[in-house]
Amino acid sequence: MSNREAKTDVILIGAGIMSATLGTLLKELVPEWNIKVFEKLDKAGEESSNEWNNAGTGHAALCELNYTVEKPDGSVDISKAIKINEQFQVSMQFWSYLVNSKRLQNPQDFIMPLPHMSLVQGDQNVTFLKKRFEAMSNNPLFQGMEFSDVPEKLLEWIPLIMEGRKLDEPIAATKIDSGTDVNFGALTRMLFDHLTSKNVEINYKHSVNDIKRKNDGSWELKVRNLDSSRIESHTAKFVFIGGGGGSLHLLQKSGIPEGKHIGGFPVSGIFMVCNNPDVVAEHHAKVYGKAKVGAPPMSVPHLDTRFIENKKSLLFGPFAGFSPKFLKTGSLLDLVTSVKPNNVLTMLAAGAKEMSLTKYLIQQVMLSKEQRMEELREFIPNAKTEDWDLVVAGQRVQVIKDTEAGGKGTLQFGTEVITAADGSIAALLGASPGASTAVHVMLEVIKKCFPQHTKEWEPKIKEMIPSYGVSLMENPELLQKIHTSTAQTLGFGEKEMVFS
Ligand SMILES: Cc1cc2nc3c(=O)[nH]c(=O)nc-3n(C[C@H](O)[C@H](O)[C@H](O)COP(=O)(O)OP(=O)(O)OC[C@H]3O[C@@H](n4cnc5c(N)ncnc54)[C@H](O)[C@@H]3O)c2cc1C
Repeated sequence: MSNREAKTDVILIGAGIMSATLGTLLKELVPEWNIKVFEKLDKAGEESSNEWNNAGTGHAALCELNYTVEKPDGSVDISKAIKINEQFQVSMQFWSYLVNSKRLQNPQDFIMPLPHMSLVQGDQNVTFLKKRFEAMSNNPLFQGMEFSDVPEKLLEWIPLIMEGRKLDEPIAATKIDSGTDVNFGALTRMLFDHLTSKNVEINYKHSVNDIKRKNDGSWELKVRNLDSSRIESHTAKFVFIGGGGGSLHLLQKSGIPEGKHIGGFPVSGIFMVCNNPDVVAEHHAKVYGKAKVGAPPMSVPHLDTRFIENKKSLLFGPFAGFSPKFLKTGSLLDLVTSVKPNNVLTMLAAGAKEMSLTKYLIQQVMLSKEQRMEELREFIPNAKTEDWDLVVAGQRVQVIKDTEAGGKGTLQFGTEVITAADGSIAALLGASPGASTAVHVMLEVIKKCFPQHTKEWEPKIKEMIPSYGVSLMENPELLQKIHTSTAQTLGFGEKEMVFS
């Protein structure tokens, strides 16, 4: 029985980085709007946004080789890298605005400068990396990137990776000092603290069970209070489904036609974390390698310095895994119950198409700790088994949909915003590039769902994000200005952000 009836302007489902970002943007744009949040766990940022559940890479395409593709003519296409870098600059500007305006304190609690590197071995890969470097280093967005195939130089950059390495084939790396490690869990919690101070009502231990459109076009949510087991009813003019892996089921419950013919496939992540402070102290970078043949793009191996709770740590991974759960705290029935009459053919087509992914995931699940150590030793030749422990990271639910290019049941590795035609409800599906581009993605939600306000809100958006609507690549002066001011505000040393 309902024991609480309430009407509000906006309801955000889920207390992850996406809802935190959208709530914060909306509070800046229309402070008078009433916002409520429902989160089934007892804290914010406990699922994928938690610092131990993701890699904390500020994805700006500085090191991820899967964002640049070699074309048949041998040239390297960097257009995706440009797009992602521009999107990350949007996040950096918004975070700086929040620090400058005292909405957030102590930026070092959520963001730290850290070199981003790509590392490859073998003739073909070294040639690719060099061509990629040449294409990127001419672009203002990637200025400051260095390339080296000289082992002595690499030893200086990454001693832990180079010590004890057999140099029986060419090796090369690129390095750029303007990379970041972002603690998305801390940032999510800080944003929700700020929202609480602005009278946003955050209801923890409240699970949204159903969403239905009412005759007046608003949305009615059935929410279970997990303490009392009572079902509450809440109504809003606009609903954002920011449930991470839980979003697909909620989107299906809304019944909007835009949510049909879409499926989800969960891929879990496992990291190895170093427990030896001497080893941790020897490394200072995020070093991304190349994905193994058949591996999905999110399983690119990387060795990352992390800054969590004022402590430096070292993470390696992710190893992929399979669990039918859509959230780490989800149900074993999540995958099965996501199959509906309208998406069953899409799901079956994906199953038939993605046999190699299934095989890869099964192999990954079967790996013993020693086999994982062997993969780690491709990065750290002298790695000792006793120095490393396994940690289970978050679940990513990859979107499956029918596309013109890929046909029925095509697996998507990006992020998808699904909105109702009238803009009254939006859901975020998929997880890549993920939290790093949260501000860009939530601005897209705002643009699609509130077209009637965009003109009125634009000056404030530009105050918060000076590059809004502008290509930074084509405006190097603005880019330089933004780099300098965000570096200062976010507390990065001058050295890290100076252009060559
Ligand atoms: C292994 C791994 C590595 C990653 N690495 C990176 C990285 O290096 N850089 C990067 O930028 N991104 C990375 N990501 C992606 C990033 O973590 C996600 O894109 C981001 O955290 C998603 O945020 P969210 O708010 O959508 O979801 P979440 O943080 O998962 O939050 C969703 C919330 O909704 C709640 N919820 C769900 N269903 C309901 C319901 N019915 N009722 C109430 N509450 C509900 C959940 O409990 C949860 O708290 C990584 C992800 C994984 C899994």
